Amino acid sequence: MIDVTNLSKRYGDKVAVEELTFQVRPGIVTGFLGPNGAGKSTTMRMILGLDAPSAGTVTVNGRRYVEHLAPLREIGALLEARAVHTGRSARNHLLAMAATSGIPRRRVDEVIDLVGLREVAGKRAGGFSLGMGQRLGIAAAMLGDPKVVMLDEPVNGLDPEGILWIRHLLKALAAEGRTVFVSSHLMSEMALTADHLIVIGRGRLIADVPVAAFVAQAAHDTVRVRSPQAAELRDLLVGPEVTVSGGEPGLLEVSGLTLQQIGDRAAAAGLTLHELSAQQTSLEEAFMTLTRDAVEYTAAPTAGDVPAGRNVR
Ligand code: ADP
Repeated sequence: MIDVTNLSKRYGDKVAVEELTFQVRPGIVTGFLGPNGAGKSTTMRMILGLDAPSAGTVTVNGRRYVEHLAPLREIGALLEARAVHTGRSARNHLLAMAATSGIPRRRVDEVIDLVGLREVAGKRAGGFSLGMGQRLGIAAAMLGDPKVVMLDEPVNGLDPEGILWIRHLLKALAAEGRTVFVSSHLMSEMALTADHLIVIGRGRLIADVPVAAFVAQAAHDTVRVRSPQAAELRDLLVGPEVTVSGGEPGLLEVSGLTLQQIGDRAAAAGLTLHELSAQQTSLEEAFMTLTRDAVEYTAAPTAGDVPAGRNVR
């Protein structure tokens, strides 16, 4: 469990994190989502005690990181993907880390197997590809068999196979009852990986929601209709639950009606259609709308601005 309470971080007059409050619970994958520069890495560094908060507190399993006697057993983290510059083999690199942390040698082979590096464990880690380096970094994070696992943008730069592997690993770690906290600036990736989302923008909390709720809310499908009689068609379609907007002449974007309903109504009225197609809002678009909205809402936070169904703070 990670508990973040009223956490703020300023660098000079630059506010990186502002009054963040959220919890990361065990047994699920929690995605930490926000555009670049939103404050994710800063928050993660404060969770690990690498950066001191300007205000607020953060605890891991009930204590501040520095108060834990064996912090590596509490939380394992992979912060920014860094190449390992070492002439040591992957196994020797992990053995050295284990030795300095009082972790038994046999745990090294366990984590090597966990991340699938057995074949190359004797090879020089400095020559690893990005994907192999990520696996090694995760092996290092898992050395202490931690209850909490935290990864900062682990899929950045990985090939599809590597991305799939990380996704499965995170789910497996959560299924073992661990707390899994993973950051990304990609909504589409989080939709596939996470169970719950903490969304931040400009250092502030925007949403704290189950992924399923976010996706359902984002799936606001519209229908694009092209017709030489667009004006008549618009009058025919608009209603209390139906909105019709049009960007260019002859084009309507309709929400609240299915393709079939629109086609049937047009046919009944003898109107010609040149296009009738479903448009799906991508998750990425929904995410951008959400973060953009939040910036506006935080500028003038009044309860009436908050759209129904969104847990916006
Ligand atoms: P994210 O991880 O979401 O991309 P960061 O936490 O890295 O965001 O950065 C949040 C903001 O804080 C950014 O505007 C960044 O420029 C600023 N920032 C981060 N670290 C420092 C630092 N050491 N000194 C000054 N500004 C920083």
